[in-house]
Amino acid sequence: MKLMIMGPPGAGKGTQAERLVKELDITHISTGDMFRAAIKEGTEMGKKAKEYMDKGQLVPDEVVVGMVKDRLSQPDCEKGFLLDGFPRTVAQADALSKTLDEMGIKLDGVINIEVPRERLMARLTGRRVCKQCGASYHVIFNAPKQEGVCDSCGGELYQRSDDNEETVSNRLDVYEAQTQPLIDYYSERGVLLNINGDQDIDLVLKEVLGALKK
Ligand SMILES: [Zn+2]
Repeated sequence: MKLMIMGPPGAGKGTQAERLVKELDITHISTGDMFRAAIKEGTEMGKKAKEYMDKGQLVPDEVVVGMVKDRLSQPDCEKGFLLDGFPRTVAQADALSKTLDEMGIKLDGVINIEVPRERLMARLTGRRVCKQCGASYHVIFNAPKQEGVCDSCGGELYQRSDDNEETVSNRLDVYEAQTQPLIDYYSERGVLLNINGDQDIDLVLKEVLGALKK
């Protein structure tokens, strides 16, 4: 299986990606890891990317796509892969399509994990951190025994400014604006698989696997 995965912050994309690569025995290619590895190993593309980054410039699409190409050429990708975190723009998607065509690779599916906005807001604004010891809680997923009080040290829990409604809402706006063109792009090409991410994580995985069988 040759796959790609997309999903907004808070949709559980990371968890699903991890489980999916295990279940299908394919290679997880997160672009962040790929970047770090290419730079560390000093590959030609890695060196180019580093030049731009050292100058504080954005790494051009051709270099990023070059890195993806190098990565997909490695033997562990023959059994299949899950591309995670790339492409981010339609221009990158176009460049990637061209590269995949040249390599004779056809994407089997683009998994798009969908979660209603109000649910994402609840997930992403629910974190609470202890002022004294830094322990982290979540009002829905990992609530302290007593509201607002740290279980381990009794310290006061607070909400970090990057977890507040306005900041989170802005993050989601940015994601939506960036991603909608990509969703349209892959939808037009008939490879988009919309998955309901607002359910138990086992059921999300089950839905993904079912969609891939079709
Ligand atoms: Zn504490």
